[in-house]
Amino acid sequence: MKCPCGCGRTIELLVIPEASPRWNITSDSAGRPTLHPSVHMKDGCKSHFWLRHGRVQWCK
Ligand SMILES: [Zn+2]
Repeated sequence: MKCPCGCGRTIELLVIPEASPRWNITSDSAGRPTLHPSVHMKDGCKSHFWLRHGRVQWCK
């Protein structure tokens, strides 16, 4: 997925069970994805956000 802040960076999210760190991705009844835990870029734009029901929620 592309970083939602607009910096153009591609975020690689590891959702395979063997990966660490990894994220759980679930879809609700409308097919909208929810990620857990939050995504935190440790360099670059340092974005920290949740993806819930297909929408980005920024952390302060
Ligand atoms: Zn960014």
